[in-house]
Amino acid sequence: MGMSVGGAVSHMSEFFATKPSFPPDNMVFGIFVNERGQRFINEDSYHGRATHYILRQPNGRAWLLMDNAIFARPDFNPDINIAAVGETWAEVEADLGIPSGELVHTVESYNRYAAAGDDPVLHKHADWMRPLIEPPFAALSFTGEDYPSTGFTLGGLLTSVSGEVLNGDGVPVTGLYAAGRTSCGLPRWGEAYCSGISLGDGSFFGRLAGREVAARAST
Ligand SMILES: Cc1cc2nc3c(=O)[nH]c(=O)nc-3n(C[C@H](O)[C@H](O)[C@H](O)COP(=O)(O)OP(=O)(O)OC[C@H]3O[C@@H](n4cnc5c(N)ncnc54)[C@H](O)[C@@H]3O)c2cc1C
Repeated sequence: MGMSVGGAVSHMSEFFATKPSFPPDNMVFGIFVNERGQRFINEDSYHGRATHYILRQPNGRAWLLMDNAIFARPDFNPDINIAAVGETWAEVEADLGIPSGELVHTVESYNRYAAAGDDPVLHKHADWMRPLIEPPFAALSFTGEDYPSTGFTLGGLLTSVSGEVLNGDGVPVTGLYAAGRTSCGLPRWGEAYCSGISLGDGSFFGRLAGREVAARAST
């Protein structure tokens, strides 16, 4: 509707998505791997960001690896599919169908970093690292068909700070205002989204837009 009267839009292909891995906190000590046995995200990042990275892994397949010392299930998915369990990481690797040695290499490398409290590859904070060495070992499935993500769309009409909808030249479309998720607003990228940024954006800029409309109406 906004576009039909000249409003310009931006970031219309963006979306927020999540399949939360935490809480509980224990989950953060696990490591995500894809079907190549490779890590791809620092697991202490916001769950919406981690989910974006999961979605773009080959065939959308990813597992969270945990050892007995930290084992837990996500509060948001207590019935999560445990795709593999083993007394060694090689058994888990074979059960997941990961090329021989790849997952074992990843875990060995991660365990070395965890013992030293430094992740030079993905920069996970030392507070959330501990070697995954206590059997049995498990792989929790974050693959699409096992754990679908939920989400909502981002992007929308471009506005001034006070909520006036702008056309492609940055000129206000007279009388049209937008805020919240009809507007492009602050939360423009799913990958960089964090909780609160949508409600905060909608209420703060919605209030500014409302004040502007009220001021105009009274003149
Ligand atoms: C599962 C989930 C979790 C979320 N968690 C968070 C979070 O933790 N933090 C955060 O910041 N954001 C979160 N969000 C996002 C946030 O809730 C939304 O982005 C925000 O509510 C959008 O607000 P809005 O006012 O723009 O739109 P909406 O809340 O969608 O309001 C639009 C309203 O317009 C009404 N409407 C639609 N068409 C018409 C019409 N023709 N005439 C009259 N009324 C109409 C609708 O009924 C609705 O009430 C979450 C969203 C979901 C789905």
